[in-house]
Amino acid sequence: MGKKIGILALQGALEEHEAAIRTAAEALDIDVSTVRINRTSQLSDIDAVVLPGGESTSMKSIGRKLGLFEPLAEKIRDGMPAFGTCAGAILLAKEVRRKKGEPITTGVMPILDMVIIRNGYGRQRESFEVPLSVPELDLELDGVFIRAPIIEKVEDGVKVLATFEDQPVLVEQENVLASTFHPELSNTTAIHKYFLKKIL
Ligand code: GLN
Repeated sequence: MGKKIGILALQGALEEHEAAIRTAAEALDIDVSTVRINRTSQLSDIDAVVLPGGESTSMKSIGRKLGLFEPLAEKIRDGMPAFGTCAGAILLAKEVRRKKGEPITTGVMPILDMVIIRNGYGRQRESFEVPLSVPELDLELDGVFIRAPIIEKVEDGVKVLATFEDQPVLVEQENVLASTFHPELSNTTAIHKYFLKKIL
């Protein structure tokens, strides 16, 4: 039986993740399909979840109204692989600052042991592209950052797979992967492949 990847479809861009997953699955020769999720009843059906970029505050209010986050967080805590990009990484962080210097608040699905600052690069650097390397995956890629958050601090259990300006931009804690940039907009699907290997 093929595996189903749920893409959280509350707000934000989904097509690029769907395309990256398709390409990555073909390269790995595995049977994977994607399904857009926005109802709790769909959660029992999925083997992994992608939390895309967008606006974490909108996702938070829509998802809360739908009662999605508690059951989803429970599944992730129980070991279901999850991949959060940008706003998706914010949703998974244990602690969040609204912006630099603001107090810490508890994240929407407090799972990843890290503190993240929304829009951490400020207005001067809203969007930018920089070369990144991910030594663990023997990978060089162009990291696309769009109103990206900054991971201020990670706890011991969190593995840092890539950094930019000495700050983590791709992290992993057991079944959870998160990036502050958009791998679905880059020139490679290697990070999606790495994620898909978690469901094999
Ligand atoms: N700035 C957005 C937020 O705080 C994240 C941006 C993105 O996902 N590209 O939710």
